[in-house]
Amino acid sequence: MPTYVYKCPKCGNFDYYQNMNDSPLQNCPTCGSTVKKLISAGSGIIYKTNGFYITDSKDKKDTAAS
Ligand SMILES: [Zn+2]
Repeated sequence: MPTYVYKCPKCGNFDYYQNMNDSPLQNCPTCGSTVKKLISAGSGIIYKTNGFYITDSKDKKDTAAS
């Protein structure tokens, strides 16, 4: 499951686990403030805010961890 990083204006950055098909988190689960989605902390995958992602597979083996 990918790890998404969100930025809350009150709580700061936090990791949030969710499925790839889930809608992006819009409110902080702690304080309810509007959060901003940052890039994923996952390995080699950068998630863009508009939904698509870029996989940098140049130097990586094709390993399906799941
Ligand atoms: Zn918060």
